[in-house]
Amino acid sequence: MDLFEHQAKELFAEYGVPVPTGKVAHTPQEARAIAAELFAVGSSKVVVKAQVKTGGRGKAGGVKLADSADEAEQLATQILGMDIKGHTVHKVLVEEGSAIAQEYYFSFLLDRANRTFLSICSVEGGVEIEEVPHDRLAMVPVSPLEGIDRAKAREIAEQGRLPQEALDGAAELIERLWAVFTDEDASLVEVNPMILTADGQVKALDGKVSLDDNASFRQDDHEKLEDKAAADPLEAAAKAKDLNYVKLDGSVGIIGNGAGLVMSTLDVVAYAGEGMKGAGEVGGGQKPANFLDIGGGASAEVMANGLEIVLSDADVKSVFVNVFGGITACDAVANGIVSAYKLLADRGEAVDRPLVVRLDGNNAELGRKILTDAALPGVQQVDTMDDAAKRAAELAAAGA
Ligand code: GDP
Ligand code: MN
Repeated sequence: MDLFEHQAKELFAEYGVPVPTGKVAHTPQEARAIAAELFAVGSSKVVVKAQVKTGGRGKAGGVKLADSADEAEQLATQILGMDIKGHTVHKVLVEEGSAIAQEYYFSFLLDRANRTFLSICSVEGGVEIEEVPHDRLAMVPVSPLEGIDRAKAREIAEQGRLPQEALDGAAELIERLWAVFTDEDASLVEVNPMILTADGQVKALDGKVSLDDNASFRQDDHEKLEDKAAADPLEAAAKAKDLNYVKLDGSVGIIGNGAGLVMSTLDVVAYAGEGMKGAGEVGGGQKPANFLDIGGGASAEVMANGLEIVLSDADVKSVFVNVFGGITACDAVANGIVSAYKLLADRGEAVDRPLVVRLDGNNAELGRKILTDAALPGVQQVDTMDDAAKRAAELAAAGA
């Protein structure tokens, strides 16, 4: 999960990382009130910043300085509703303006290729890090066992060629950012720019934080950071049921066991729909409606929950259940489908769209027989993945 700048800075502040004082506004009037407060306590300028989860806001006109509360209100009027790289601005951060002497770059990230953490530091900040020449960048690996103490932090700042007067402040900031990175289970903490102010302080002027969702089980506080407004309602419902579901924009619902199998099922369905389109056949142009991996266990309850989520998408006109029996054999999955039909009927949500089932692998024969004997309404069995994908696309086209 990526955080908004204001969330990143709120987190920074909890860890003692110096950030400018500010608050979030959702309306120009709120922006005005916050700016007025900041001027009242002695700010000579305030800055109004678009809150969107993408970089380059400054260049896009989403970061502006104001000399009065009036001006802050006007700027907020301009910036709210603006589109920045496909992200609509719904809120702005109104902050005390900083007198910037210099802009630097700093980040901690996970270096997957080298199986370590990495810190990147440069005396050249405020620009995209990709634009900084390599010889102006320090890339210093950080051992997860040793971590970062003040001396190591200072060494990183020195290697980034920060000037003498910024070293103490930068070292303190870097040491604290390391606590943010590890204690919050982040995969990225980036401060661009980290600034030296005219009066010699080092501060985080921008903040980008990505939190590792795999750690959410031990980070109860992170749930409140989620951007509920942006979440897809089906994805939210699936998450509540612990299902690995991603909404796509087609008409063929997909359920499979194992992420790799589901990925290739998406490809096969998209390919079938595309090919039939060229040939002018029924089913042409149909695409996958979702990704759903029900995992290895695939109990009746998980199958029922999966079917329920997939079918609650009104765009779904047919469902392709693609199962390769492994440790959980096909007969168990077939029984799961039969029980899922009963479960859903009991919930008043009987399956009302055609289901194409392909069972292969461990105990496939037995699984197919169970489904044949159950004679569930709307269920068709097809033995190969390609043919099943084609059939599902045809049924989706017929139901559209
Ligand atoms: P980004 O463009 O999305 O990375 O947004 P930033 O928060 O990094 O802001 C972009 C640029 O705006 C910074 O690099 C600064 O040069 C400038 N800026 C942001 N806040 C202030 C401020 O308080 N005072 C001044 N003078 N410039 C600022
Ligand atoms: Mn920035």
